[in-house]
Amino acid sequence: MKDSSGFIVPTYFTKEVDLKIDWDRVDPVALDQLNLARHVAGVPFRITSHYRTPEKSLAVGGSPTDAHTQVPCGAFDIAYTNTLESYRIVRGLIFAGFPRVGINARNRHIHADVSTSLPSPRFWVE
Ligand SMILES: [Zn+2]
Repeated sequence: MKDSSGFIVPTYFTKEVDLKIDWDRVDPVALDQLNLARHVAGVPFRITSHYRTPEKSLAVGGSPTDAHTQVPCGAFDIAYTNTLESYRIVRGLIFAGFPRVGINARNRHIHADVSTSLPSPRFWVE
């Protein structure tokens, strides 16, 4: 992937750049899937949420037992700015094998997770 200056930028997530990922709790298999999803989508993935404590998840409108609270954590929220970007992100996530994908149109983000304890496969819009 090239930035606006034409330089090649890494297409994989790194601790230095992706500060919203809790690198001590990330599910490494889900992270590989996320890298593949971004490669397939061909658009930036701006992660807005990853691991959350049950209290934090409740505070931001989630549930204290949602996929963001599981360790290792394979749940990610990805911001999008328009419908072309949301299409490409969802396409990449499904291609990469994320079994649970949801769109939050109000907050313009896409949720994806690999939880095996929550109903799967699922796709939702809220
Ligand atoms: Zn989420």
